[in-house]
Amino acid sequence: MSETFKNFIAGEWVAPSTGEYFDNRNPADWNDVIGKFPRSGPADMLKAIESAKRGFARWSKTPAPIRGQVLQRVGDLLVERKDAIAKAMTREMGKVLAETRGDVQEGIDTAFYAATEGRRLFGRTVPSELRNKWAMSYRRPIGIAGLITPFNFPLAIPTWKMFPALLCGNAVIFKPAEDVPHTGHLLVEVLIEAGLPPEVVQLVHGQGSVVGRAMVEHRDVPVISFTGSTETGSLIGATCGKMHKRLSLEMGGKNAMIVMDDADLDLALDGVLWGAFGTTGQRCTATSRLILQDKIHDRFLRMVCDRAEKLRLGPGLEDKSEVGPLIHEVARQKVAEYATVFAGVKAGMRVEQEEIFGPALAVIKVKDLDEAIRVNNDVIYGLSSALYTRDVNGAFRAIEDLDNGITYVNAPTIGAEAHMPFGGVKQTGNGHREGGWEVYDFYSETKTVYVDYSGTLQRAQIDTYQT
Ligand code: NAD
Repeated sequence: MSETFKNFIAGEWVAPSTGEYFDNRNPADWNDVIGKFPRSGPADMLKAIESAKRGFARWSKTPAPIRGQVLQRVGDLLVERKDAIAKAMTREMGKVLAETRGDVQEGIDTAFYAATEGRRLFGRTVPSELRNKWAMSYRRPIGIAGLITPFNFPLAIPTWKMFPALLCGNAVIFKPAEDVPHTGHLLVEVLIEAGLPPEVVQLVHGQGSVVGRAMVEHRDVPVISFTGSTETGSLIGATCGKMHKRLSLEMGGKNAMIVMDDADLDLALDGVLWGAFGTTGQRCTATSRLILQDKIHDRFLRMVCDRAEKLRLGPGLEDKSEVGPLIHEVARQKVAEYATVFAGVKAGMRVEQEEIFGPALAVIKVKDLDEAIRVNNDVIYGLSSALYTRDVNGAFRAIEDLDNGITYVNAPTIGAEAHMPFGGVKQTGNGHREGGWEVYDFYSETKTVYVDYSGTLQRAQIDTYQT
C-alpha cells in the first residue's frame, strides 16, 4: 500500500475536502507508486488563503533579521537532508542523482543567501532638495504570495520563490507541479521543523487548472509567481493583468549555443552535451539549438553525434546512468515526434523555433558571428545563450547583441548561480528576475518617507533654495 499524503493548511496536515487523490509514480518504473497526493478543490484553497492571512499578520511584524534566522535553520536542515531529498526527488522526477543533489544544493544556497539578506534588505536615505528634511525609502512586506512551480526543478525553483518571499515578510501558498508533489511535501516539512510559524506557509496539492486557478483568481492573493510553460503563463498573466496583481513569469526557452571556428572544440563538446542532454533536456535553459560556423560545422557535428550515442540512459538512481527518463509518457511521445540530433536545420523551421523540452538538438550552419546572433535572436523566447570563441572582441560584441536574459561565454547555456539574477526576455518572462538581489524587489513594496523637521511648510519644486 502506498502512503497517502496531505495538504498543509492552517498549521496542520489535512486531507483534501474533495476526498480525491492522484498517484505519484516513478518515471523510471511506472509500477512504483510513491504515494497518493490530494486532488484538492477550490474550498481547500480558500481555507489556505484564510490561514495565510493570519500567518501574514504575525510574520510581517517579525523583524527581518529574525526571519533570516529561520531561513538559516532551513538551510542547515536542507544540508542534513540533502541526500535523502535528492533520492526522493530522483524517484519522482527521474533526473540522475548528481543533478538532484545539485537541485537541493541550489535550495541550500538560496536559503543561506536569504538568511543574510535579513540583515540587509536595504532601503535608501538620500538628501532632500529642501533644508531640514529627510527623504528615505524602505521595503515593506506585501501580503500573500501565491507560488506555482513546474516539475523540472522540484526543490530549487520553489525555494527561489519561497525564501525571498518569506524573508520579505510575506506569507506563502505553494502549489507544486502535479508530477513532483513529494519533494514539495519534504520542503514544507523542513520549513515547519526550522521554526517557521505554521500559518505562514500553506501547501495545496492538485491540478493547476483547479487549485492554481482558484489562487490566481482570488483577490486576497496580491502576488503571484509562476514558472512553467509560456502557454500557462499567458493564461495566468491575463487574469493577473485584469486584477492588477504583481506577477512574476518565468516561462519557456529555445536556447542556443554558438560555436565559432576559433573555439576550443573539446571544451564546446563537453558544454553542448551537458547543455542539451543534462536533465534529459528538460531545463528551461537547455541547449536546444547548436549554431556552428561553417569551417568547423562538419567536424564538430561528427564529434557531437559520436559522444551523444555513447551517453548512458537509465534510471536516475543507478550510478552508471548519465541521462534519466523523461517525466511521463506524454513527454516521451512528444520528444519521439522530434528525435535527437537534427543536422541541416534552417533558421525558421519548426524544430528550430518550438520548445521541445527533451533531449533534442537542432544544428544550424552559419557564415559568421553576425548571422549567428541573428539566428539566436530570431525566436519568440529569450532565456539563455552561449558563445564559444577565443576572440575577446567578438565575445563582448555578442554579449551586447544576443537578446537573452543570460549569456555564457565559453560555458554552456545552463549553470545559473543562486546569488545572480535569473530570467529571460521576450516571451520567456515579463521583466522580473529570480535569484540574487533583484528578487527582493519583487517580493517587497517600496515605501517612500519624508520627514520635515523645519517647522514650516516647505513646498517641493516651489520653495527652491540658492546655494
Ligand atoms: P506547466 O505550465 O504545465 O505547469 C507549471 C505549473 O502551472 C504547474 O504547477 C501546473 O499545475 C500549473 N498550472 C497549470 N495550469 C494552470 C492554470 N490554469 N492556473 C494556474 N496554474 C496552472 O509547466 P511544466 O510542464 O511543469 O514545466 C515545463 C515548462 O516550464 C517549460 O516550458 C519550461 O521552459 C518552463 N520552465 C521555465 C523556467 C524559467 O525559469 N524560465 C524554469 C523551469 C521551467
